[in-house]
Amino acid sequence: MQIDSVEVRHIRMQLTAPFETSFGVESDREALIVAVRVGELVGYGEVVASAAPLYSYETVQTAGHILRDFLVPDLLRRPFEHPAELDGRWAFIRGHNMAKAGAEAACWDVWARAQGISMAQALGGVKAEALVGISLGIQPSIEATLERVAAAVERGYGRVKLKIKPGWDVEMVGAVREAFPTLALMADANSAYTLDDAPLLKKLDAFGLTMVEQPLAYDDIFDHRKLQAQLATPICLDESIHSPAHAAAAIELGSCRIINIKPGRVGGLEASRRIHDICAEHGVPVWCGGMLETGIGRAHNVALASLPNFTLHSDISESARYYHQDLVEPEFVLGGNSTLAVPNGPGIGVAVLAERLDAVTLASQRVGR
Ligand SMILES: [Mg+2]
Repeated sequence: MQIDSVEVRHIRMQLTAPFETSFGVESDREALIVAVRVGELVGYGEVVASAAPLYSYETVQTAGHILRDFLVPDLLRRPFEHPAELDGRWAFIRGHNMAKAGAEAACWDVWARAQGISMAQALGGVKAEALVGISLGIQPSIEATLERVAAAVERGYGRVKLKIKPGWDVEMVGAVREAFPTLALMADANSAYTLDDAPLLKKLDAFGLTMVEQPLAYDDIFDHRKLQAQLATPICLDESIHSPAHAAAAIELGSCRIINIKPGRVGGLEASRRIHDICAEHGVPVWCGGMLETGIGRAHNVALASLPNFTLHSDISESARYYHQDLVEPEFVLGGNSTLAVPNGPGIGVAVLAERLDAVTLASQRVGR
């Protein structure tokens, strides 16, 4: 398949409500949307880097540079047979996984459209619905948290993730557990603790959490092993898994019992599939993490979460959770049993709204024929 042109748009979308984690508050979301054209077909991908290098060293600006100067010229110069090739082909660029993943996703979409199959089919998905949960940012008070959890349960979410940080952990999680004794609950620390906090983190064992996510440093695998040995609660790694090799190492070391797969963090959908397979071979369940994606990234994530080992609730909420109006139609809405339907139309299976996309575009560049 030969790509005719590539368009990269820098967008900014207002979030319905500010989202607070252990590293800060976001009230709008910047991202890059990559559109690749092959004849009449267009494939879309989303670069999930943020405006600031807080979750990852990548930003929309670094990703724009990597796309403009390396990935786009490579795509326009060389055809590919199958989008799964791109992961290996772009290994010459070290890191910059979010930039790679956005470009690769657009190629998967256009390739799947050309085959007349859905992204889920292209990736080997087997589920008609993806199991999803909601992630709640840090709230101003425990009362406010309980209200938000109650609203999420009322809305139909079967799993709630609570963001924690030092001083906002055991008491808050305990209060939620007391009020919701049977709800699937998990906590995400976004690397806010150190191994010295093991006694405190051990207190979370009392609450029957499905997992505690990335408690220690964003680039650590080794200390997590020491922590997991002390905790009954499964540790899930997020920030520190950037490749299938990292996943294999973390599993063999015993650093985690669950892995959160984000295509942007690991370099794309092909790397995500390989991590999924490695985890499946070792009996380690996976789920798909969220980066406040627009409907474009969300559609790719829903397709990924249709693979068989995505047995835990993914952080893929309905569109209205984050945005007043999404970039795609139909929007994603929550179905029964805390699921989102996996689109079955060609490619990502949702239509990108050109006017809406134009309205949120800050800058765009198109290269090619
Ligand atoms: Mg996380």
